[in-house]
Amino acid sequence: MLTVQNIDVFYSDLQVLWDVSFHVREGEILVLIGANGAGKSTVIRTISSLLKPRKGSIRFGEVQLDRLAPHQIIEHGIVHVPEGRRLFSEMSVEENLFMGSLCRRAKAQRPESVAHVYRLFPRLLERRKQMAGTLSGGEQQMLAIGRGLMGLPRLMMFDEPSLGLAPLLVQEILSMIGRVNEEGVTVLLVEQNVTQTLRMCHRAYALENGRVVLEGTGDALLKNDHVREAYLGL
Ligand code: ATP
Repeated sequence: MLTVQNIDVFYSDLQVLWDVSFHVREGEILVLIGANGAGKSTVIRTISSLLKPRKGSIRFGEVQLDRLAPHQIIEHGIVHVPEGRRLFSEMSVEENLFMGSLCRRAKAQRPESVAHVYRLFPRLLERRKQMAGTLSGGEQQMLAIGRGLMGLPRLMMFDEPSLGLAPLLVQEILSMIGRVNEEGVTVLLVEQNVTQTLRMCHRAYALENGRVVLEGTGDALLKNDHVREAYLGL
C-alpha cells in the first residue's frame, strides 16, 4: 500500500535519514520503534510531504507522494495524527472534529463521520460542547484520533499517541488504535512503549540514527536479542 524507498532526508544541511526503506501493507498495523532522535517523526513528516526527500521515493499505491503538497496527501486518504495532538484548544470538541474534515473528499460525508466518531468514542459525544483545551490528556488524544478519522483515512499515521499519558491511559489509547485498525484503517504507528506496541502490531521496523536496522513481526522483534537489550533493558 505504502512504499518508502531509499529516502535521504535533511533539515537544511543536517542529514537525519539515510537510505530508509520500508513498506506498509493494506490492513496492517506497522510500528516504527527507535530511541529519541532516531528519526521516527521525520519519517512521518516526510510521508505527509511536510519535508521532501532529497533522494528516493514514496509511493501510495500508484501515486508518487513525494511530488505532492501536504493538502493533496490528505485527499489521497493519508491522515497524520501529530505528536502533541495539536488541537484547537479554544474550540469545542465538535468544532475540532469538523476541522478534520476540511478536505473535499471528507466534507461531503461530515454528518456520517461525526456520528461514526461519536459511536466509537461516546465520551466525545458527552463532551461535544466542551473546549478542547479543558479536556483531560486522554480525552484530548481521543479527540485527536477522532479528528483524524473525520478525514476518512485509508492510512492513519500516529506520532507517539501515548506521550505524557498515565500507564492505564496508554493501554486505552493503544486499544483505540487497535479498534480503528479493525474498522479497516491501515495504521502506521510511532511509539516509545515498545513492549505494548510490538504486542499489538503485525510488523515493525527499528530505526537507529536515521537508518532502518531491523525488521520483523512484532513477536519476532520481542524475542530479538538486540531489541531486548537496547529497548527493553533485558
Ligand atoms: P522523538 O522520539 O524524540 O520525537 P524521533 O525519532 O521522532 O525522536 P525526529 O524528531 O525525527 O526523531 O528527529 C530526528 C533528528 O532530526 C534529531 O536529531 C532532531 O534533533 C533532528 N530534527 C528534528 N526536527 C528538526 C528541525 N526542525 N530542524 C533541525 N533538526 C531537526
